[in-house]
Amino acid sequence: MGLGQGRNAPCWCGSGKKFKLCHLNRDSQTAIMPWEAAKVLRTSFSEEVCSAPNEWRDLCSKQIIRAHTVPRSSSLNRIALNGHVYTFIPSFENLTKNNGRLVPELVGVRRASTFTGFCSTHDGGIFSPLETTPFVGTTEQLFLLGYRALSRELYTKESTASMTEVRRDTDKGRGIREQVAIQAFNSTFERGVSAGLRDARAEKAEYDVLLCSRQFEEIRGYVIETTEAPPVMCSGGCFPSIDFDGKRLQDLSNLKLRPAMISFSSFWGGAAGAIVLQWRAKDQTLCERFAASLHRIPDEGVGSALGRLMFNCFENVHIAPLWWEGLDARTQAALVRKMTDTANPFVEQKDDALRDDGILLRGFTVANRYTVGFSFS
Ligand SMILES: [Zn+2]
Ligand SMILES: [Zn+2]
Repeated sequence: MGLGQGRNAPCWCGSGKKFKLCHLNRDSQTAIMPWEAAKVLRTSFSEEVCSAPNEWRDLCSKQIIRAHTVPRSSSLNRIALNGHVYTFIPSFENLTKNNGRLVPELVGVRRASTFTGFCSTHDGGIFSPLETTPFVGTTEQLFLLGYRALSRELYTKESTASMTEVRRDTDKGRGIREQVAIQAFNSTFERGVSAGLRDARAEKAEYDVLLCSRQFEEIRGYVIETTEAPPVMCSGGCFPSIDFDGKRLQDLSNLKLRPAMISFSSFWGGAAGAIVLQWRAKDQTLCERFAASLHRIPDEGVGSALGRLMFNCFENVHIAPLWWEGLDARTQAALVRKMTDTANPFVEQKDDALRDDGILLRGFTVANRYTVGFSFS
């Protein structure tokens, strides 16, 4: 069995192990139970590390905390109901319970949006220009939004990469045809994961240098201020591949290139709601095109556009319960569908994912918009 393979030759699946230690007799091995996979997933996503620059690690406190990713700790309180917000938790149990759909769940604001990715000293110290003074769009504040989003992206990518072994074992007890299909799937997925990890690590190392030398001049951004706290709050980084007009911006399938990166944050800035796109000067051309396509959308369409962006590109999304419960069932179902696809690495983003799809989202009243470090050309 096994594609006419020698026992001591490297296994056909690409694991790098010998066939006899890998896929020989895999069809008769005990299948991995969903709860076993879920446990590994949970463990890898609760790894405790401090993401501060290496040079500063000797100052780390002993305590790794649940660091909030949505900036300004009071932000989520502003949209919470009885101390809770809706959040998407892509766990195995949740997906099974809801027939593969990722539906939002109420989570206490103290846990929502957190990751165990900073020690108490560095979480408080690094981000204090963002946390303790109102947001006014300084390059330092923009940098810190990007730094936090990037730290979380890197943390998530490291966790995903650490799951390689588990993913490779998911064909235990299956027939040879299924084994081949599953491992082909895995190989494609792993290539994407390792390229993403390589890019996020490189980006993070460069952000560390900027932070240590306090060089924030190369930070660029586009800020939308809203009169109230945004009903959907989010912090994330992405490689934008399409804009709000449905135009292609960059081809992510060439894994050799490091794509342009943008961070997105929506939160309460202290005096106004703040929705911030942030990037570095090296990615100006592409990120400006992305921001310009959002800038062209009239004020009354901005909420719907931001909704498309957040539900199509980020999982780290937190929702005001009153806002969510005020949506009609059709709109809720559409947003759940978007989020379910976003969380599934095998569903490719459609070219028109950010274009107007007729789903109207209210609750984002635009008060002001401005650019940081550039003007639209
Ligand atoms: Zn194998
Ligand atoms: Zn630390």
